[in-house]
Amino acid sequence: MIITLALNGVEYYRGDRMYRLRIESHFDAAHKLVGYKGKCSRVHGHRWKVEVFVLGEKLNSIGILVDFDVLKQILEKIVEKLDHSFLNDFKEIGNPTSENISKYIFKNLKGLPNSVKLQKVRVWESPEAWCEYSEGFTG
Ligand SMILES: [Zn+2]
Repeated sequence: MIITLALNGVEYYRGDRMYRLRIESHFDAAHKLVGYKGKCSRVHGHRWKVEVFVLGEKLNSIGILVDFDVLKQILEKIVEKLDHSFLNDFKEIGNPTSENISKYIFKNLKGLPNSVKLQKVRVWESPEAWCEYSEGFTG
């Protein structure tokens, strides 16, 4: 594993032997897009699917990178707050676009075990449309 710190302070994480884990959850919430010209400016709801991807290299003594349950508990803390809410009420999100929601979830995934790095958060607004947010990773 190689971690390079770029000039902008972002960690780039590369390795040729890595594991990637993914968990998913979902929440139901309403929103309206401020400044948007079209029907999405009206209050409406979605069933948002959230995927979290982590990367790591070292397994523990029984062959586990990170316990899926640990990741799920961290994600659920955020999802519980958002579930059955009006997303425009969350000032930290800003305008509740898929872009801003994925960044909000990424930034609030705190307390991940040291064995993994957060790669990206993908938020599905519908079965056909998603947005990813990452910092320093690609792929
Ligand atoms: Zn919408």
